[in-house]
Amino acid sequence: MHVGPSIIETEVLLAGVKENVGFTSPEFIEAMGNALRGVRKVMGADNTYQPFIIPGSGTAAMESVTSLLRKGDRVLVVSNGVFGDRWEAILRKYPLEVKVLRAGPGDAVSEAEILREMEGGKYKMITMTHVETSTGVKMPVGEVSRKLRDHVEIITVDGVASVGGEEVKAREWGVDIYLTASQKALGCPPGAGILVLSERATNTISTQSVAGYFLDLGNWLQVMRNMEEGRGGYFATLPVHLVFSISKALEMIEEEGLENRFRRHALVAGTIRAGVEGMGKRVVAKRGLYSNTVTGVEVERVNPSDVLKTTISGGLELAPGVHPALKYFRIGHMGWINPNDAISTIAVVERTLSKLGEPVKVGEGLRSAQEFLSANS
Ligand code: PMP
Repeated sequence: MHVGPSIIETEVLLAGVKENVGFTSPEFIEAMGNALRGVRKVMGADNTYQPFIIPGSGTAAMESVTSLLRKGDRVLVVSNGVFGDRWEAILRKYPLEVKVLRAGPGDAVSEAEILREMEGGKYKMITMTHVETSTGVKMPVGEVSRKLRDHVEIITVDGVASVGGEEVKAREWGVDIYLTASQKALGCPPGAGILVLSERATNTISTQSVAGYFLDLGNWLQVMRNMEEGRGGYFATLPVHLVFSISKALEMIEEEGLENRFRRHALVAGTIRAGVEGMGKRVVAKRGLYSNTVTGVEVERVNPSDVLKTTISGGLELAPGVHPALKYFRIGHMGWINPNDAISTIAVVERTLSKLGEPVKVGEGLRSAQEFLSANS
């Protein structure tokens, strides 16, 4: 129950076990084409959007948006935590003008504040984080994007901790760049950055951009188009074996159905939150900002790293808290998880916290989680 890499289905892992496949083999080109088409679907994008799968990770996908930016362009970063701040860290490496709106821990920057800042159309790009993994805060990126549409050229959303676990409707919401990574709610091994770009965003990729070489999407564009058309292409070596896993995972996601998948994530997340609150602990994200994929759990007395050490020795891997202003640990619940995972996680967490001396109502978390599940499934 880590925040990523998440637990991976054996079928997904095995899809990547190939002895002899090069990047020009028909088998790989087919898998890559399927994966690119699957990416569009899981991002709520249509054929006007250009999908990309590039080597690297979520951070590579984030940095690749510099392919659309030129010297002196103004970018507004909406930061709800550590991964929002990452946008600032990346963009300040380039000759750009960056302004940041920052939320308090467990909170999200308000729509009103964003709209106020965007008035007058002074920004070329805005970046937002759909689910801020450091706190588990989900931002209503769809509603905000709709209202921003006429005020900014490029709307970029980091969906690293949302795509595959939360509803994503890039086209309907008017988002230009939606990006993610392979190892989170898509439930694959790490190693790829994944993006869709609207027509406007694709046309904004420029040879005059501030991007470096490897992450310049202009270098990857023709490769992606070729692959989808069943032809080979090379700019740099793609994570060939991982692409087979991504293709398999997206096929399984389609079989499950996106609506079913989001419902499953919501059910597991609700069960976990009910369990955490039932045992007397606080969820980090403020009410109304809960995500389906990550829950932060605040602790008073125990050292969160002791909680992690103890649970892992019993076979349950949790994630450390990374927001400097809070004392907490995180439970990841994305990908292939089910309600039984939620129940066993709550049981282990309340027992562990109690053993380590944290004030906790042992058994009450489990009772609340069971009640939530019974009432909602
Ligand atoms: N954005 C978010 C919301 C994330 O959760 C992460 C990874 N935890 C990243 C960006 C960076 O992704 P990666 O570690 O794959 O580079």
